[in-house]
Amino acid sequence: MPRYIFITGGVVSSLGKGLASAALGALLQSRGYKVRLRKLDPYLNVDPGTMSPYQHGEVYVTDDGAEADLDLGHYERFTGVSAAQADNITTGRIYSDIISKERRGDYLGATVQVIPHVTNEIKDFVLSDAGDVDFVLCEVGGTVGDIEGLPFFEALRQLRQELPLRQSCYMHVTLMPYIAAAGEMKTKPTQHSVKELRSIGIQPDILLCRADREIDMGDRRKIARFCNVRESSVIQGLDARSIYDVPLAYHTEGLDKEVLMHFGIEDAPKADLSRWEQISETLHNPDGEVTVAVVGKYTVLPDAYKSITEALVHGGIANQVKVKIKWLEAEEFENSDDPNVLKGVHGILVPGGFGERGAEGKIKAATFARTKHVPYFGICFGMQMAVVEAARNMAGIENASSSEFGEGGENIVGLMTEWTKGNERVERTADTDLGGTMRLGAYPARLVEGSKVAEQYGMLDIEERHRHRYEVNIEYKDKLEAAGLLFSGLSPDGVLPEIVEIPGHPWFIGVQYHPELKSRPFEPHPLFAGFVKAALEQSRMV
Ligand code: GLN
Repeated sequence: MPRYIFITGGVVSSLGKGLASAALGALLQSRGYKVRLRKLDPYLNVDPGTMSPYQHGEVYVTDDGAEADLDLGHYERFTGVSAAQADNITTGRIYSDIISKERRGDYLGATVQVIPHVTNEIKDFVLSDAGDVDFVLCEVGGTVGDIEGLPFFEALRQLRQELPLRQSCYMHVTLMPYIAAAGEMKTKPTQHSVKELRSIGIQPDILLCRADREIDMGDRRKIARFCNVRESSVIQGLDARSIYDVPLAYHTEGLDKEVLMHFGIEDAPKADLSRWEQISETLHNPDGEVTVAVVGKYTVLPDAYKSITEALVHGGIANQVKVKIKWLEAEEFENSDDPNVLKGVHGILVPGGFGERGAEGKIKAATFARTKHVPYFGICFGMQMAVVEAARNMAGIENASSSEFGEGGENIVGLMTEWTKGNERVERTADTDLGGTMRLGAYPARLVEGSKVAEQYGMLDIEERHRHRYEVNIEYKDKLEAAGLLFSGLSPDGVLPEIVEIPGHPWFIGVQYHPELKSRPFEPHPLFAGFVKAALEQSRMV
């Protein structure tokens, strides 16, 4: 049976609870343990798929097609363990399941209540399908005290008594603010948040106190005394230069040691953190710098492009360079004929996106990259826009467009009406729900031998994660290829364009899928490694 670590947060949100969970997972792994990370989200959406990136940041997609919280991306990047549908649950999903069961009559006349029905669902989720892992780390979204989080905390409270002795650990992440006027750090918010937690019956075992400067021993003692934890269990979590320094930093502070001690594990293997040391070393001693423009629509909120940002960092690691990102709002240079803002960048990346706003700016970015021979990486929407650009300016289809923007143009990109998943034909119509109806998750693609993309991957059969509702119409393949755009990757049945590239261009690749989701610091995605390499070559030319 695995041991369970429950991670909660207090004081404020955005303390890096997800990162802390991922880092702890990585630390336990570095001692040879098998881990699994899960996220409990108290909001009412069934999944974050329908939420605006402004609200919730990026939607992370798993191999098995879940639209999940972006923390699952941190978990994957830090542990290398692929997350699954079964690793993220929301209040919305729980209620939706319970209500269907109730309508079916499954509760046999019982009054359906938060306790025990909702809490039981939560506990079942936490305990389900753990496989042969040594530790399951379960993070609760939000902060203690949120009304919607209560059933989750209650479920976790019950689990302590239901699991065997010493099989569970509560880790609470809090904030230690520094008050400049007083010239000191304050323990009170931590005390209050632990009080809140204890009022619902949870006594934390470990406190991870986030701070922007050293927490002195006196303050740690004070926290230990008022919060009723051991002094050694008050761990300071200082701001780090890079998120990839966090596992090393928390190890130095004794986080993993304290967790193991809590479980009474005395013979744990020593931590082997060499791969993290290596990453840290490469990150902080780059051999140069390249600037990549990311032309998107949600650029004011970098969390909206979390995996892209990280995959670019990984591409940098692969090439020993620092990648500087220049965030550009596509809409802003839509009306100028000369996209000045793109001058001097070494690579242009157009990420995924939805809707018409900013589309013309993205098309302009693709024109600039193509005609000025600047490396171009189009991801999902960025690939579709590159195809529209090629149709308009290489194949002479002046009004080329996507049906996502309504009627009026010649739709080179159109609504996908059916596709193959495994042996099944999946169909959708224009009036089905928006939630959960995209082509989601991992699908195979076959690459064209001798193409740039095949060279990047070093193989011809790949599998990548998708999240899209529109596709490039295969009927335009011949016409666009005659004009100089190569369809270098297709779905195995040959009907769905997965990759396009421009032969002869230093690096111009558009992919219908999201390669960023599978990139890891110790295993940079080949396309990100290749794109940064091309950007580096470009930087040597200008
Ligand atoms: N809006 C486009 C589609 O649905 C692209 C989606 C994306 O970039 N993730 O196909």
